[in-house]
Amino acid sequence: MRKLAHLFESNANWSKKISKVDPEFFARLAHQQAPAYLWIGCADSRVPANQIVGVDPGELFVHRNVANVVVHSDLNCLSVVQFAVEVLEVKHIIVCGHYNCGGITAVMNHRELGLIDNWLSHLHDIRYQHRDRLEAIVDPQSRCDRLCELNVITQVSNVCRTTIVRDAWQRGQDLAVHGWIYDLSDGRLCDMKMCVTSTEEMETAYLAAIESTEGTDRILPPEIFAEQDYLSAASNTREKTPRT
Ligand SMILES: [Zn+2]
Repeated sequence: MRKLAHLFESNANWSKKISKVDPEFFARLAHQQAPAYLWIGCADSRVPANQIVGVDPGELFVHRNVANVVVHSDLNCLSVVQFAVEVLEVKHIIVCGHYNCGGITAVMNHRELGLIDNWLSHLHDIRYQHRDRLEAIVDPQSRCDRLCELNVITQVSNVCRTTIVRDAWQRGQDLAVHGWIYDLSDGRLCDMKMCVTSTEEMETAYLAAIESTEGTDRILPPEIFAEQDYLSAASNTREKTPRT
């Protein structure tokens, strides 16, 4: 019980199996890692990054937290992004959410879980920002699914707006930021069709991704929302950006 022997046994079997197929595998990895991808995903045990995309150790640099949230004051996440972009020079950052996310469900159901509610408040902000679109969805499951998608789109936008990514693009570094979502029910990934490769593409990609989700309302980008809308939300007189 105290040693968790079954996990060590499983580890030994895994190591032997890999070494049998590729005797130099671990020696090679011990020398250097050169992943092309940074994966930012949910901590949910059902969403294991490497297994989902079928890649070996060494191919994904991974950061996971509850509900795959990217906060601009989170030094843990920012350090991972900075190391991945500036030291490892990854070519792609993938933000991968998933349907039936416990964090999203807790927010949608106003469920209180303790300390983590502070972290989930970032999702409450997204829910509030897109309240019109979400409230228009009758089916509770579909509403949760939509917030899972809107969260991915928002977090891609947050990654793009970090100084790390903006600086990388400014110096001409080849870097793309992608938004994906994983379906627990069939193990398949879905591309949210938000792929950003420059600062100039950012707003257009964000708005297009939002538009591609169900509904037709034009939603303000987060930074505009924060400046123009959030503080005056109580007045409920939000002006939407006119369609172009
Ligand atoms: Zn989750």
